[in-house]
Amino acid sequence: MRIVSAELRTFRTTVRRSLLVRVTGSLGEEGWGECVADDEPTHSAEYLEGAADVIRRFLLPALLAVPDLDPAGVAPALAHLRGQPMAKSAMEMAVLDAVLRARGLSLASYLGAVRRSVQVGASVGIADSLDSLLDTVDRHVSAGYARIKLKIQPGWDLEPVRVVRETFGGGLMLTADASMAYTPASARHLARLDAYGLALLEQPYDADDLHGHAMLAARMETPICLDESITSARAAIAALRAGACSIINIKPGRVGGYLEARRIHDLCLAADVPVWCGGTLETGLGRAANLALAALPGFTLPGDISATDPVVLDGDSIAVPDGPGIGVTPSEDALEAFTQKG
Ligand code: MG
Repeated sequence: MRIVSAELRTFRTTVRRSLLVRVTGSLGEEGWGECVADDEPTHSAEYLEGAADVIRRFLLPALLAVPDLDPAGVAPALAHLRGQPMAKSAMEMAVLDAVLRARGLSLASYLGAVRRSVQVGASVGIADSLDSLLDTVDRHVSAGYARIKLKIQPGWDLEPVRVVRETFGGGLMLTADASMAYTPASARHLARLDAYGLALLEQPYDADDLHGHAMLAARMETPICLDESITSARAAIAALRAGACSIINIKPGRVGGYLEARRIHDLCLAADVPVWCGGTLETGLGRAANLALAALPGFTLPGDISATDPVVLDGDSIAVPDGPGIGVTPSEDALEAFTQKG
């Protein structure tokens, strides 16, 4: 396709502010992408206003200059611009949607999906109290989610994990995500999580601390999973070679797009390393695309893809969209109602 115009829409959902981009091609093709950057650069270096600015000033002009743009050509066309994986991912996603829509091919088929529905899990944040944590977990377990992930941080770790394990029993697939909240000084403390049969412990240390994660992986029975450390296929190879993890959480926005995400999946599948699809409170658009990715054969653990309109839970699974492109389009009414002007 040849992109002739693009429009950015920033709007507020009930959980966060979101940025969508719509590209239009010279033959009238149209595709949507979502940028998963947060309002503030606290979780990753990118932030929403910055990503919108980078798209307007740098990414879009670079793509407008490509006369025949294929989805696989987006990353190379943007490679001279450093960083910005979430902004780049949004642009690649919009091009994928537009090109596949025009070809009548679903993103799931294009990526190589082997499942029509994927098992999903729920992520539970730090709660005010153990009672309120148990209420939240109970709600998600009753809804049918196949796995519960507990966010942990210093001061909120062993006790909440123990209480949830004891209340819901050994049959519940339970994981813990530290989102980089610890340092290797906590290794002995974290190793006590081994008592609770977690399916994995996610990213206890800083993104660049492969050595620290490797030391922890060697002393714990609980498998270590990396999230923030995995910024590319190359980073995934380095982490696996270092022994820093045995499971990988793949987030397309964090690695610069769905095609790099597929590369990470492919190398993990070849190395027998389980992967799962992380979430960043995407709108229904991003979740639909994540479902397509999570339908690939190596995604053997439930993804963080909770149900939200138009995505619905069926048992412990969500159907993979099979329409052309991403398979869903934002509702114009909802966009109008939530779009932030100016
Ligand atoms: Mg995480």
